[in-house]
Amino acid sequence: MGNCGSLNFQNTPDEYLGIIVSHMIKDMFYSLLPYARRFFPKKGPSQTIKWLQQRQFVAAHVKSAYEKVKVYVINDEELCSRLVEQQMYNEGKPIHFVGLDCEWESRKKDGIALLQISSGNDCILYRTCQTDGVLPEKLKELLEDRKVLKFGVGIEEDVRRLRLHGVQVKGFVDLRNLAHRCVPPSTNNNMNRPDDELFQWNSLSALSLNTLEMQLSKNYTVRCGNWEAPALSRKQILYAAKDAIVSLEIFYALVLLRRVRRKQNVDTLNGLFESEVDFHKILQGFKDSSSACFYYSHMKDSLTDLDAILPIETTRTFPSKGLTELAYSLCQGIVDIKHKPKLIMNQGLQQKAASRGLSTKTGLDKTAKRYKHQCRDKPLYENCFLIGPQKQVLATVNRTKAEWYLHKNIGVIEKESPFTVRLLFEPSGRPKPDADYYTTVKENVCAVCGGTENFVKKNIIPHDYRKYFPLEMKDHMSHDVLLFCLDCHRVAQVCDEEVRQDLAVKYQAPLGTKEHMFKVDNPQLGKVRSAAKALLKSGDKLPALRRDELETILRNHFKVKEVDNELLKRAMEMDIREENKKFLGLHGERVVKAILEEKGLIEFVKMWRQRFLDLMKPKHLPQFWSVDHNLHKFKST
Ligand SMILES: [Zn+2]
Repeated sequence: MGNCGSLNFQNTPDEYLGIIVSHMIKDMFYSLLPYARRFFPKKGPSQTIKWLQQRQFVAAHVKSAYEKVKVYVINDEELCSRLVEQQMYNEGKPIHFVGLDCEWESRKKDGIALLQISSGNDCILYRTCQTDGVLPEKLKELLEDRKVLKFGVGIEEDVRRLRLHGVQVKGFVDLRNLAHRCVPPSTNNNMNRPDDELFQWNSLSALSLNTLEMQLSKNYTVRCGNWEAPALSRKQILYAAKDAIVSLEIFYALVLLRRVRRKQNVDTLNGLFESEVDFHKILQGFKDSSSACFYYSHMKDSLTDLDAILPIETTRTFPSKGLTELAYSLCQGIVDIKHKPKLIMNQGLQQKAASRGLSTKTGLDKTAKRYKHQCRDKPLYENCFLIGPQKQVLATVNRTKAEWYLHKNIGVIEKESPFTVRLLFEPSGRPKPDADYYTTVKENVCAVCGGTENFVKKNIIPHDYRKYFPLEMKDHMSHDVLLFCLDCHRVAQVCDEEVRQDLAVKYQAPLGTKEHMFKVDNPQLGKVRSAAKALLKSGDKLPALRRDELETILRNHFKVKEVDNELLKRAMEMDIREENKKFLGLHGERVVKAILEEKGLIEFVKMWRQRFLDLMKPKHLPQFWSVDHNLHKFKST
């Protein structure tokens, strides 16, 4: 089953034309990509380009690792067993991953005519229809070995049919389930765009195109041909073998794609496949049987006759230990289960959302991702007590702070619950009512709405002002740090922004403009560097005209005749930042400086606190929180 076929001499003229046109469109697409990037510099297209580049690289890597595959067509039970033992179990070094596919019998319902299994180096086509449906012992052993993972598309139907042939297949994986884990979410989301081949993952041919960049032709006459014929045609053999070969290679490509995507570096593929020279051994009994042996070549995409009787030198490739471990871990949870696209997509999302303590129904998970403020996973108030030698409550503190007094040997544990530390010295007191704020137990709820989820710390006086306060005013800042829920935090930030803008006008302290920055990019140098970047990244893909344009920029800047790689690297390493002549100081710094000059800092602090009360109308403020807190001693500031 599945669709296969090829790009070889056996295609009809119509198929040829179709293939040529589709290749032309593909070539055009690639040649236009650099331009697309110029017109759509934002996320979408450049993500697509990146993904296509990664895909191209991975496809070439996998296909060259398994450039030649030996294909055996076997209709002898014993011979098949020996072949599995010799080639697949490889003398005590068993394989871990195989591609599996079956062609179905046309006469008998639920029957299997041909079983194809590929280890990457060898592909066995076992003709069950020639042996009364009996499966060779060694092959059965391999199929029932749960440590050997079997890959295919719609593989559960093959597994079901094999059960009727007396085999309990273990360790099967539907490639579509794996694709959901390995392909970029941006392309994954487009899974329902039927017109866009680039984003389809629902069939063997779509997966083949989107991972290996290999076309599987949909030759109906071959697919539905007679698989029980006394001898299989070359076309049939190629078709059937490719289904199993490609199934395994799609698996490797998916794993590699995920790795490249994660590490953002194609170099990480080095050493993932290992090769050793091997002598293809004489297979006894091969000559007397009607079995046949071929080489399948990716480069030629066709079969070559192979004399199975003569020993020849070959290369055997297998995944490295690292790749094997990665592949096993990626398949966890999708072994021996059917293809369930929706279930898997949602499970992943739901787990992510749940792990952040977010609802899986609303759009909140999306917002939380976009919002730069991370939710706290620890309570803000741990409510441990610090008491004086006379057992008067001095403050409620966090556990770490309380333990600090123990480590310094200036405090002893008074009580375990609530954790209370008694100080061995008399601390200098704090005037009432300020002191009361620090001695009360505070609830871990949103100070505004009382919400009990997704907490964020909120600075009532924004940090970029506070950090320029005189040292003595920076003491006891915890009063002005409150616990907000994510939603209230978002509203408060917007309110803050209004105040900032007023202050920016009042004190001529611009916010976040160029004048706000110490250093700016020198536009001329920026141009030179981006020209070098473009040439380094995709020089040979650029049209001659554009290439010349970019090189001229570099030649003029460096005053050289030739642009070589050395020069490009030099240009890339250039520091293009320069001092901003318009810079007058950061907004916060300038505002606080001006306020200190007019001795208005106390009023400034009160203003922020009062505005917070007026605009947010907090209903769950900690007891003793006040606009005047800790201010009376600074009358003159
Ligand atoms: Zn809230």
